[in-house]
Amino acid sequence: MKIAIFGGSFDPVHVEHINIVKAAQSALGADKVIVIPAFIPPHKQGKALAAPQDRLAMAKLAFAGIKNCEVSAYELNAGGTSYTYLTLGYFHEKYPDAQLYFLVGADMLKDFYTWRQPETILSLAELVVCNREEDKVSFPAEQLRFFARFKKKFLSIEYTGRDISSTKARVLAAFGEDLKPYLPFDVIDYIEANELYRIKGVKEALAYLKPSRRKHTLGVALTAAKYAAQYKLPEKSVILAAALHDAAKNMPPDAPELSGFSAPEDVPPPVMHQYTGAYVAEHTLGIEDEDVLNAVRYHTSGRPNMSDLEKLIFLADMLEPGRDFKGIEKLRKTLASDLNECMYLSLKHELKYLKKRGGEIYPLTFRAYEYYKGMRKAKQ
Ligand code: FE
Ligand code: FE
Repeated sequence: MKIAIFGGSFDPVHVEHINIVKAAQSALGADKVIVIPAFIPPHKQGKALAAPQDRLAMAKLAFAGIKNCEVSAYELNAGGTSYTYLTLGYFHEKYPDAQLYFLVGADMLKDFYTWRQPETILSLAELVVCNREEDKVSFPAEQLRFFARFKKKFLSIEYTGRDISSTKARVLAAFGEDLKPYLPFDVIDYIEANELYRIKGVKEALAYLKPSRRKHTLGVALTAAKYAAQYKLPEKSVILAAALHDAAKNMPPDAPELSGFSAPEDVPPPVMHQYTGAYVAEHTLGIEDEDVLNAVRYHTSGRPNMSDLEKLIFLADMLEPGRDFKGIEKLRKTLASDLNECMYLSLKHELKYLKKRGGEIYPLTFRAYEYYKGMRKAKQ
């Protein structure tokens, strides 16, 4: 008997997960697929935002219609950190005669080396890397590296799927976007009925936006959320700050929301909405998180010594998928590795652009540039 084990946080489960299960069934000829939502302990700063029982319930709904596929509560019942080698050990004991396969997405392959007891995992199961056809990872170099370390190869299966991740699904859910292309209907109903992934203030902020700006704002949220875990930022704050950042962009100065607002000195008109936006966020929408408010307040100008949240919102605003300018790809690449370097390069680009167009340069932006330039120098 061939059994494929598929673990993950499933926060939430989405159509890609279902595609992987189907691909494993046909490519491996697996007799059974066991889906195992991981328990993520509360004291760990994880990205899981839905409770373990909700993630389990959603997985059960999603896989209910798939033949020879079961959802196991093993890791949830075990609690604590869900180590794969322990889980595989359990299923090896339960099915001693079965050939076990362990399914991972292509993005997990580079992390596999740092897992607990990877050799034990490989002695218990064949590693199967699932590669989506739409953005194929090239495997030959990975196989060489893998073989050098473990003296065996991993299997790979290719499947077609959609561009979706659980992070993206959480952002879409928080924004109230249509989840139908990405999530099974029953899972969408469950999310709505249980109000999962909602973030207070997001929908209120979005109500201020014209459709074109809403699209940009969604792009900012998706871009920023993608890096939230990497930069150890709370995802909810990241999504909230993104949703808020341009809330006052098209607000007339005499709007009731702006009564009592007084502008700092010498703010160029294109920069003003960062201050009015933070004001509306605080006074009308009742946002209290100072870091979120500052991310809105400095998203256009930047400033010296920004928090990581401020930097991420500033950069996501400039680099979201709707933006296009010469050199943007290099900046996007830098965003994935170094926030300070990316701030330096982005501010440099912005100053150059403003100078070329004869636009007014806000002194705070210049100071921000000098700050990140100095930081870079000190590092070299
Ligand atoms: Fe803006
Ligand atoms: Fe913006």
